[in-house]
Amino acid sequence: MYLEHSQNYARLNHFIDVILPIPIQKTFTYSVSKEEASFLKKGMRVAVSFGKTKMYTALVVAIHQNAPELYEAKEIYQILDETPIVTKIQLQHWRWISSYYMCSLGDVYRAALPSAFLLESETIVYKNVAFSDEASLSDEEFLIFEALQHQSQLTVHQVSDILGKKKVLPIINGLIQKEVVAVKEEIYEQYKPKLVKYVRLNSQFSSGESLENLLLTLSRAKKQREAVLGYFQLATGKKPIKATTLETHIGVSMAVIKALVDKNIFEFYHIQTDRIQFKGITSSLKKLNTFQEKAYQEIKASFQEKEVVLLHGITSSGKTEIYTKLIQEVVDAGKQVLFLLPEIALTTQIISRLENYFGNQISVFHSKYSMNERVEVWNNVLHHKTKAQIILGARSSVFLPFSNLGLIVVDEEHETSYKQFEPSPRYHARDAAIVLAHQHIAKIVLGSATTSLESYFNTAQGKYGLVELNRRFGNVQLPKIELIDIKEKHRKKRMNGHFSDRLLTLITEALEQKEQVILFQNRRGFSPVVECTTCGVSPQCPNCDVSLTFHKFRHELKCHYCNYQRAMPHSCAACGSNTLDTKGFGTEQIELELKALFPASNIGRMDLDTTRGKYGYQKIIGAFEAQEIDILVGTQMLSKGLDFENVSLVGILNADNMLNFPDFRAHERSFQMMVQVSGRAGRSKKQGNVAIQTFNPHHQILQQVASTKYAEMYQEQLQDRWQYHYPPYYRLIKITLKHRDYQKVDRGINWLAKALQNAYRENVLGPAAPVVSRVRNQFIKNLIIKIPPKQSLAVTKQQIDAIKNTFQSVSEFRPIRFIVDVDSQ
Ligand code: ADP
Ligand code: ZN
Ligand code: ZN
Repeated sequence: MYLEHSQNYARLNHFIDVILPIPIQKTFTYSVSKEEASFLKKGMRVAVSFGKTKMYTALVVAIHQNAPELYEAKEIYQILDETPIVTKIQLQHWRWISSYYMCSLGDVYRAALPSAFLLESETIVYKNVAFSDEASLSDEEFLIFEALQHQSQLTVHQVSDILGKKKVLPIINGLIQKEVVAVKEEIYEQYKPKLVKYVRLNSQFSSGESLENLLLTLSRAKKQREAVLGYFQLATGKKPIKATTLETHIGVSMAVIKALVDKNIFEFYHIQTDRIQFKGITSSLKKLNTFQEKAYQEIKASFQEKEVVLLHGITSSGKTEIYTKLIQEVVDAGKQVLFLLPEIALTTQIISRLENYFGNQISVFHSKYSMNERVEVWNNVLHHKTKAQIILGARSSVFLPFSNLGLIVVDEEHETSYKQFEPSPRYHARDAAIVLAHQHIAKIVLGSATTSLESYFNTAQGKYGLVELNRRFGNVQLPKIELIDIKEKHRKKRMNGHFSDRLLTLITEALEQKEQVILFQNRRGFSPVVECTTCGVSPQCPNCDVSLTFHKFRHELKCHYCNYQRAMPHSCAACGSNTLDTKGFGTEQIELELKALFPASNIGRMDLDTTRGKYGYQKIIGAFEAQEIDILVGTQMLSKGLDFENVSLVGILNADNMLNFPDFRAHERSFQMMVQVSGRAGRSKKQGNVAIQTFNPHHQILQQVASTKYAEMYQEQLQDRWQYHYPPYYRLIKITLKHRDYQKVDRGINWLAKALQNAYRENVLGPAAPVVSRVRNQFIKNLIIKIPPKQSLAVTKQQIDAIKNTFQSVSEFRPIRFIVDVDSQ
């Protein structure tokens, strides 16, 4: 008891504010001792308890002497870092994200740090076997001691149960002080460095004489003798010798090496290595052609006045080579570079291109990497290691601890996958990167062949610089684009399955020339649904308001929203007839048709199902590059930044599906997608062909795609946006409510709609149910608030927050999930 008192006394007037990784708006204050206060710095982690017994890894954001007024500050549990792992600029950046995207700092903190840094746990208590002085224990302490004789560990909850009270941390602390128990430390050590096993000779054999004796003793163990001799051959290289290297070098099994270790002749030791290592040689940058050089000089000139420059360059104009020049300069100046990609897995090509130039200076960061790999990259960036001077990453890499950022490249800046939908923070990585660049006083270049309306608009407003590049590298012409009227083809019976006779001719010609073909099929709303031809009913997902899709390969029905799956039924559940038929078509269906039509060709498929796993994309892209695949069928993933030399034909099977999608961005998106996939044709040698099948060849967007008229598309779309009050003129905030009880959601959304309409009148859209209005048994309703150009965004957000608070103070509404999405897509 005396101990606790003296501790409290020392803690009296030192406090820290911390962020907790939970969706709570405020920071929390904890008390620390004077020594702790002087040791701690902003950006270090501490373990704290929050709520009853739950432990969290919190982040220190302030150190001060003001006791909180409304509650008594608890003590921290432990300091977890010796130096900060989060920088001041990061904290600033997080604050911006939290306020702009209307989410808690805790949400940002949780999204930003690799999960290994954020351990939280029920503390686990172990007995200390060495302890025996039972007489010194209080009654309560003894109860715990005794419990630990029967089971090896206890959670804090269990301790509570045993003692029949809630506040047990002081008692556990007392037990720790008396060395009766220990607390599981493992929660701080989930990051396990990867260890590589090396072999060396036991030091007793270092003299020549002992060595001779050694070989003599091994004269009858032939393999072991070979292993030792092999070791000496390798050892002349003076480099540490990996166990596996020795194994392959001498061609014996690991068992032989182990036997030598057992005899104390060899010993194993470990060296920590990074998991991701680049092996290869670097080559020098390509020399830019005149057009690239001009664009490059324009970007640099533009950087004199602007922080952000948009590089609008047609497909295959050589934008990547321009980025590399910019990167080289920044790297030479000793600064860090962030290269953002929309979906990293798709872009293995860019990775290898950049690695080719910058080799060991590049690190890759994305969510398919393991926790350990991400921790390594984080630390390397934080410590400004050369190997992480250039970061190639997907959207979450804007959260890395850059200290000295000089340049950000946002490749394919129009891509919607830069926006995070779920969970919070619902940030747009391009926009967050622009803010990050500003905070680092760095430059940022946004690049695309199909620039987003927003970014192009910003250049027109003078916010961003604009550089255009309208010539393909090597002067290869843009592909010839042909629109095929499939209404007409159906009428004339010139369709074979989903292929028009014209498209089949083009495919045949390409294959005859030994050229490759890409066929593109938009997935959105285009799934192979099963339907009963007798009664018209299609099997539904029991959890979501959506039809199940048919997967021929596994003969299964699947829900794309919740992953529910079941075997394909033999008969219709509604009418009992066995007339279930697959309707519509997916990539799988097309693959099957192609196999029948072109039995001599190799057909590959790239979609969500074939690209699972870390190297899923790489395998397919690699096989296509190696020309092991003649025809590749895929979804919109195929449209992103791929560069294949031998592709001469790109076919789009049904363009109308994208155009008719009920979304104000559908036309812009369709244009982008079609121009991007077309851009995969004829990149290196001769002009390529693009064939677009459509029911509506006169649609203005198809005409604009066929003639690649970006400016015309931009002007027309912009007019629509102005007329119908959409971005880039108006801003959008979407509010979504979700709950299992339909009535509750309905009442909630109506209440909310009224409250918002009071404030914003006709600028509130909805309430409406989304296309899929129930997912995982949760009913969903939306409202959209349009914010006119002159209305303050900040004030609007405050008002929305206030309305949200009132909403959540109504007890009936409190259980409803309330989601705010700023700049919803
Ligand atoms: P974009 O990114 O604009 O689509 P890329 O940078 O991928 O274009 O360039 C298209 C192709 O032209 C690539 O194969 C690339 O290697 C080649 N290329 C571009 N610029 C040069 C250059 N200056 N010298 C040699 N090859 C180049
Ligand atoms: Zn039926
Ligand atoms: Zn479902």
